[in-house]
Amino acid sequence: MSKIIIKNEDELNGMRDAGRVAANIRVALAREIAPGVTTRELDLYARDMMEKSGCRSAFLNYPGPRRVPPFPSYTCISVNEEVVHGVAGSRRIDLGDIVSIDIGVVYKGFIGDNAMTVMVGVTNPRIIDLVRTSEKALENAIAQAVAGNRLSDISHAVESTVTPKGFSVVRDFVGHGVGRKMHEPPQIFNYGPPGKGPVLREGMTLAIEPMVNLGTHEVKTLSDGWTVVTRDGLPSVHVEHTVAVREGCAEILTLPDEENR
Ligand code: MG
Repeated sequence: MSKIIIKNEDELNGMRDAGRVAANIRVALAREIAPGVTTRELDLYARDMMEKSGCRSAFLNYPGPRRVPPFPSYTCISVNEEVVHGVAGSRRIDLGDIVSIDIGVVYKGFIGDNAMTVMVGVTNPRIIDLVRTSEKALENAIAQAVAGNRLSDISHAVESTVTPKGFSVVRDFVGHGVGRKMHEPPQIFNYGPPGKGPVLREGMTLAIEPMVNLGTHEVKTLSDGWTVVTRDGLPSVHVEHTVAVREGCAEILTLPDEENR
């Protein structure tokens, strides 16, 4: 594993600004999610927000693997059985859906990356529990992102929150270091034993992103080359914050203005 980049105070300030912009767009977009709206319409709303905020999408035109065209949308919008990397299109949001929105922006040279899952009139208690448990897993994972801990303490916090409920953690996709680049070392798995991997140090900036499935952990990629879905077609939740490792308590960089920064 190559070296994890430590950010100085100037760079952390850049990350704070990018994180705040990404978070403001996330919560604004969440409010637009309603029955009848298409994922394309949501994506274009986010594009307009990005333009107004003076940032650009970190996802649009992201290079794909071999033979896959670059990512075509401004955001990743993943509905129900879609896990991550949902491509915007004609799919209409329906009552009872869960909609994961992942917003990554480049603002003044730094990346802010965050995601949340919005419930649209969901009444199924098991799905409500899936969403709340995933949010709790993210919270518990962030609590481990403190100087002196080891990387896999974050991973273990996710898994140990999720599996006792009978939900499963996606293994094929991971969180990541983030900074001037979207994907920096390290990879952050959402499962595994605690106490392994590099020691966390103040100034590391990490995108922690549990992906949690109602059924099997197994996923597959659709023929568009991007959209990842659960193999059993059951719903999946994706939540994410960009955080800075600190002494004693991690700093969440992707809180919106309204959450009292
Ligand atoms: Mg990410």
